[in-house]
Amino acid sequence: MSGNKRELLRQIPSVDALLRAHTMHRATSVLGSEDLTRLARLVLHEIRSEITAMDGRDAERFPALDSNRDRLLAHAVQRFEFQVKSELSKKIRRVINATGVVLHTNLGRAPLSARAREAILSEAAGYCTVEYDLELGSRGVRGGGTEKLLAKLVGAEDALAVNNCAAAALLILTAFARGGETVVSRGELVEIGGDFRIPDVMSQSGTTLVEVGTTNRTTLADYERAITDQTRLLLRVHTSNYRIVGFTARPGIEKLSALARARNLIFYEDAGSGSLFGDLEEVISGEPSIRETISAGVDVVSFSGDKLLGSAQAGLIAGRRELIEKLRREPLYRALRIDKLIYAALESSLESYRSGRQLTEIPVLRMLSLTEDELKERAISLCATLRDSVSDQLQIDVVEGQSAVGGGAGPTAQLKSLLVALTHPSKPAQLLEKRLRSYKTPVISRIADGEVLLDLRTVSPEEEAELVGAVLSL
Ligand SMILES: *Cc1c(COP(=O)(O)O)cnc(C)c1O
Repeated sequence: MSGNKRELLRQIPSVDALLRAHTMHRATSVLGSEDLTRLARLVLHEIRSEITAMDGRDAERFPALDSNRDRLLAHAVQRFEFQVKSELSKKIRRVINATGVVLHTNLGRAPLSARAREAILSEAAGYCTVEYDLELGSRGVRGGGTEKLLAKLVGAEDALAVNNCAAAALLILTAFARGGETVVSRGELVEIGGDFRIPDVMSQSGTTLVEVGTTNRTTLADYERAITDQTRLLLRVHTSNYRIVGFTARPGIEKLSALARARNLIFYEDAGSGSLFGDLEEVISGEPSIRETISAGVDVVSFSGDKLLGSAQAGLIAGRRELIEKLRREPLYRALRIDKLIYAALESSLESYRSGRQLTEIPVLRMLSLTEDELKERAISLCATLRDSVSDQLQIDVVEGQSAVGGGAGPTAQLKSLLVALTHPSKPAQLLEKRLRSYKTPVISRIADGEVLLDLRTVSPEEEAELVGAVLSL
C-alpha cells in the first residue's frame, strides 16, 4: 500500500466527528441516534473501501496533506446527508397532493374526513369494542356495528368488510364457486391495475372461468347457453377503468338476477369503485350506485372503501343474509379481515352518509364536486399571494386544465379545473417539480409542456399556506 493511501486512511473522520459535523439537525429528531450512527458507519465504511481500492494513480491525486482531513470530513458529511435524506424519504410522510388526481393510488387514495381521523385517535387507537359486546360483557361480532350501518345504508340484509375489494372478490368466489364454474362476459375480464386481473382472481379462487359473449356485446341468451350443472355463479364486473362505447350491449342487473334465481345460481356484481348513493352522477356518470345495485336484485355486491366512498382501504360486501353469514364463517375470511382502526374510520365515514352530510364532510366528494368557478377563485387568489412574495424570475400563471378522478374510476369524466402554472427562465420544470417534492412537507405536482402545474382541487384550503411556503422556496 502506498504511503498516500495509508495516510488517507488515517485521516478518515471518526463516527463521532461525522455526527458532530453534519447540519441536518431536524433529521436527528426524526431518525434517532441509532439510525444516524448506522448511516455514519455505512458512509465511513464505503469511503474506507474506496480508498483501499484506489490504484496508485488515484492515490496520487490525494497528496498527503493535512488539509485532506477537512476535505474528507466535508466529503463524508455530504454523503452522510444524502443517506439521511433518502432514509427520510422512505418513511410514510404526509404530502400535499397538487396533482388534481383525487383518488391517487400511490398517495393513499381517499384522504379521510376530520370525523374519521378523530375516531381513529379517540375511539380505536387504544382498547375498543371492535369485537366486544358491551351489553353482554362478552365477545361480539367483529365490526358488527359498522357492518350493520353499511347494510342499512345500501338497503341490504347484511354486510361484511374485508381488506380491500380484491380480497372481497377472492373471498366471494372462493366461498361460492370453488370447484365449479363462474360465468362472466368477455367484455368484463378486466385488469384493474397493479396485479388485479379478473381471470387471475378466478383461478386463485379455484373456480373455472366460462367466458360468454364478445368484447362489445353480450346478451342474456349467451349467459343462458353457458349455464351447466357445474355452474355456481354469474359474475358481472364493473369495467371501472375503461369504457366500451358504440355498438355495445349487456343485460341489466334485473335480467341477470332473474336468470340466476330461475337456475338456482348466485349473482355477484363486483362494482369496484361504486358510490353509495350515486351522489356525483352529474360529475362522474356510469359509476353504479350501490343502493340501486342492491335494489335491482344482486345477491351480493363488492366495492372499495377508499374509492368514491371516500374512506379507508377496505373491501365492502353487501347482500343476502345467508350469503354474508357463509362468508363470515369461511376460513379465508380470517386472513382478510380488517383492523380496528379501519373499522373506526369506516364507521365515521358511513355516519356522514347516514346523517346526509357526506357532500360536506367526505373530502373525496367535496373535491369532486368543486366547481370550475370555485377553483378559479382559489387559483387566482393563490397566484396573487405568490406574485406578491416571490422575488426572482419565477413566472406564475393561472391556466385552464383538467383534474382526474383516479383510482380507476370515471375514466371518461371531464373535470375542468383552473391550474397554477410555474415556469422559470433558467430552472427547468423537472428541477422545480423535484424541489417541490423535497420541501419539508413534500408537494406532489405534475409537469406538462415544460410547466409545473398545481391543481387546487386536491389541496385542502388548510394546506394552502404550506403550498405557498413550498413555492417560495423554489
Ligand atoms: C378497484 C377495483 C377493484 C380492486 O379494488 P381494491 O380495493 O383496490 O382491491 C376490484 N374490482 C373493480 C371493478 C375495481 O374497480
